[in-house]
Amino acid sequence: MALYLVSTPIGNLEDITLRALRVLKEVNLIACEDTRHTRRLLDHFGINKPTISYHEHNEQARADELVQRLLAGESIAIVSDAGTPGISDPAYRIVTAAIEQDITVVPIPGAVALVTALTASGLSTDSFLFAGFPPHKKMARQAKLEELSGQRATLVFYEAPHRIRETLVDALEIFGDRQAAIARELTKLHEQFIRGNLSALVAHFDAHEPRGEIVLVIAGSGDDNLPPVTSGSITEQVELLMSAAGLSRNDAIKQAAKSRGLSKRDAYPNDAERERK
Ligand code: SAM
Repeated sequence: MALYLVSTPIGNLEDITLRALRVLKEVNLIACEDTRHTRRLLDHFGINKPTISYHEHNEQARADELVQRLLAGESIAIVSDAGTPGISDPAYRIVTAAIEQDITVVPIPGAVALVTALTASGLSTDSFLFAGFPPHKKMARQAKLEELSGQRATLVFYEAPHRIRETLVDALEIFGDRQAAIARELTKLHEQFIRGNLSALVAHFDAHEPRGEIVLVIAGSGDDNLPPVTSGSITEQVELLMSAAGLSRNDAIKQAAKSRGLSKRDAYPNDAERERK
């Protein structure tokens, strides 16, 4: 008996491993976040196994029940709707309950949106911090971003499309105009990467309604080794920093210049000249 944590695709059905398919065929039971959703995946691969629900609302009770079945000798696979169980998805409780009972826990690695996004973001992959979904309420979200603002590691977030603009505006206000990337609809037909400074990403979503599944990647603090990635003119960036992040003109110019690796004088020679007089 063993508890298998089976990663499934995050969009493209080809992204399932041979090992995952074998394990799903061999176990006695598959515990799924949404049985109907997983049934479609199983049908696609011709797997006919009993399923049971295991989601955030029944996690504790179901974990106890599944551990009893494991102790009775059954093998059980946990799958979530997409990607790796336990990553912003249920699995943690059953994993800890199984470990307490000395039940073998076997991870079957595969797709995970945060790593898929990070590797193609163009931002540093040496060290990163996955922060999950930012809090929904503005004050809590801003407090969380404040807490992360000194992190040197690249920051990775999951975010819903209807909240991404607000989150980008808060990040711009708290982190400054750092480099960032949006990874949208990964592995799917409309996969898209939008790379640029935070102000450019805000401007992007002013012009295009955010849709689909989104991972947000933001450069860490003091990540000066990267080439500046900017879209649009510096004047546009300054205007956005003033309107979206509420910066004064002077601070907006400083931020925009810094994000492009320029001194204020090089970025805005007339302003620097005026200040000297
Ligand atoms: N367990 C999953 C994993 O391993 O990545 C994450 C589940 S979490 C409930 C769902 C969030 O992951 C989405 O809101 C989105 O932020 C991100 N996500 C999942 N699939 C994605 C995809 N194909 N493209 C971009 N982001 C994705």
